[in-house]
Amino acid sequence: MSSDDLRQRDQRYLWHPFTQQQDWEADDPLFIESGEGVRVRDRDGREYYDANSSLWVNLHGHCRPEIDAAITAQLGRVAHSTLLGLAHAPAAELAERLVRLAPPGLARVFYSDTGATAVEIALKMAYQFWRHQGEEDRTRFIALAEGYHGDTLGAVSVGGISLFHGIFRKLLFTTDFAPSPSRFPDARQAAEPVEALLREHRGQVAAVIAEPLVQGASGMLLAPPGYLRRLRELCDEYDTLLIADEVATGFGRTGRLFACEHEGVSPDLMCLGKGLTGGYLPLAATLATARIYEAFLGDYSELKTFFHGHSYTGNPLACAAALASLDIFDRDRVIEGLATKIERVRRRLEAMRALPHVGEVRQCGLMVGVELVRSRDPRVPYPWEAATGARVCRRARTLGLITRPLGDVVVFLPPLASTEADLEAMLEIIERAIVLETGDG
Ligand SMILES: *Cc1c(COP(=O)(O)O)cnc(C)c1O
Repeated sequence: MSSDDLRQRDQRYLWHPFTQQQDWEADDPLFIESGEGVRVRDRDGREYYDANSSLWVNLHGHCRPEIDAAITAQLGRVAHSTLLGLAHAPAAELAERLVRLAPPGLARVFYSDTGATAVEIALKMAYQFWRHQGEEDRTRFIALAEGYHGDTLGAVSVGGISLFHGIFRKLLFTTDFAPSPSRFPDARQAAEPVEALLREHRGQVAAVIAEPLVQGASGMLLAPPGYLRRLRELCDEYDTLLIADEVATGFGRTGRLFACEHEGVSPDLMCLGKGLTGGYLPLAATLATARIYEAFLGDYSELKTFFHGHSYTGNPLACAAALASLDIFDRDRVIEGLATKIERVRRRLEAMRALPHVGEVRQCGLMVGVELVRSRDPRVPYPWEAATGARVCRRARTLGLITRPLGDVVVFLPPLASTEADLEAMLEIIERAIVLETGDG
């Protein structure tokens, strides 16, 4: 099919996520045809670095033979079978692996298919858990301003990005928002507003939900060290549950397998998605402690069942991909290799900080946000209508790199498998794109 035909089909029939279709229809969409390692290729054979890991999901590169083979092998057995009333090997094996790898205390795995559903499940489990304890007043959730947990309505209810979430406000359940921890210099101060809410609503809070260490979707906002641990202490003190949304931070992104490990924290519920299958297939998981799990046990007539599931919950192909991804972590010692890569990125970012239109550079492992500003001192943002972040990413594309901005924050979230040379080359392109678009060169 000719490029023109394809383009027409896309522009006439498709509706893209997070996309103003009026602009899209007037544009010339880039069709990705293949990928290999940390690069993807378009229909004309042009290559691009996949500098945002295909929206934060890819870990080990594209077309990894081990993951391809695992999926193919599973495909030869069965592509899908349900977990409602039936079991299958990949789901059981993966559940054991995840429990062994997760922070201590997490004992059960409930599958779904996207990060947002993993969050929905955590919220519903928390709520129902308290009902089973006879604590019917625990209907409130505490969440953080600038937090992001997905786009379904429960996840939006605990979402703190008004640009995305504001319009749906009337459809949502009540959530108490504490300020983003990124606004505070130290953990204790940052957690005070959470404590105030816990005190005010003592006995009414079902759970506190947070992204550990870094609020990704709001532009890689970093929490002060110790904040997550402080949240854990507060949840214990006020006897409520902590939900860690590790959808973005999980699977090595922050330098450890899970971000919670940096602060020795075990949440009561943990949401996993994005990198779970190495970026291959949609799969998510909500991990729960034995205490939560056991509260759902009882005679069927007690109605303690968790009535929740999806058609493709725990899809065998996706579980096989996830198992192969975890094998790669072991065999390639992926986590051990991250420290030098992260350090290399940190050093390279130092140079970028010197650019006059770079306001702040935020890094947590291989999660990086480079914030662009009209002026640094005094700090003046670009007008949002100027879409400076989008222009820089567009320019980067012409230089052979794909990423997507968050407002005026240029996102750099490379596959974990990127070599140091890849990382240097990608950051070089990003810097050139910034210089060219902000007139620094
Ligand atoms: C991306 C993301 C989600 C939502 O995941 P989807 O797979 O897009 O539904 C939830 N929480 C966090 C922290 C995320 O970054």
